[in-house]
Amino acid sequence: MPDRYAVIGNPVAHSKSPQIHAEFARQTGQDMTYERLLAPTDGFIATVEAFHSLGGRGVNVTLPFKGEAFGYATRLSERARAAQAVNTLKFEGTAIFGDNTDGTGLVNDVTRNLGCAITGRRVLLLGAGGAARGVITPLLEQQPARLVLANRTLGKAQGLAHNFGGSLEAATYAALAGGQFDLVINATSASLTGALPPLPRGVFAQGALAYDMMYGKGETPFLAFARVEGAATLADGFGMLVEQAAESFFIWRGVRPHTAPALKLLRQATD
Ligand code: NDP
Repeated sequence: MPDRYAVIGNPVAHSKSPQIHAEFARQTGQDMTYERLLAPTDGFIATVEAFHSLGGRGVNVTLPFKGEAFGYATRLSERARAAQAVNTLKFEGTAIFGDNTDGTGLVNDVTRNLGCAITGRRVLLLGAGGAARGVITPLLEQQPARLVLANRTLGKAQGLAHNFGGSLEAATYAALAGGQFDLVINATSASLTGALPPLPRGVFAQGALAYDMMYGKGETPFLAFARVEGAATLADGFGMLVEQAAESFFIWRGVRPHTAPALKLLRQATD
């Protein structure tokens, strides 16, 4: 019997994770399956436990259950603790290990796939929801010159800045005027509704990378704005998606897959 894995979410039908993990398993010769599990919004734990009792070895967790998965895990990685959200569960006997691979996925995509160093650079992160929280620690580990977090609701950004003790600066969008950044990451959900975060003009430094965590929506308003503003490189969130999956695969299987073939498959499927 192959080992069983799954992604749990609501909705989950759109998830690309089964294609990505199938490619990783093929490439590394791992005997495993990976399926989608739709959990009722009040039935996350029951769904995980049913899957576990049927022999499941681990799951990815997507919206809206990352916070619940954080509470469910009996052992947590440091990065999951910092994010207060879990996207990867691994069943280890009676223990349940919870990790968060989103931030490492973003950093690996930016530094390896896009060839953009974060160390010593000025980084601007937009948004203060689950996605932004998940990437703060991995970004800080790269030792940027500064990391500024802008959010529509300033109090949320200030709360995060307080938790990170001075290494993270909170700002309103208006306060960004006059500042310049080498890497601007859109971790808001604005692109989902075709909206543009209220960024002032002139924040993209020469040679800047504009990164939208959103994927599969073509050129988002944020990326269109960045292009007009002269950002040198535009990137969507497909690379982050594949890199976070590779990190989960490594946690479960102890093998690091090559990510380029899976990324190519996804891009071909959405072209
Ligand atoms: P949340 O709902 O937790 O947070 C949403 C954030 O967006 C809040 O900070 C909110 O601000 C802000 N926001 C929403 N609309 C606007 C707007 N019009 N202008 C400015 N700010 C706005 O969402 P998540 O953090 O979970 O997800 C954010 C995005 O990241 C989604 O698009 C998701 O698809 C993507 N994502 C991509 C991943 C990948 O692998 N590529 C992984 C995880 C997420 P406020 O606090 O003021 O309400």
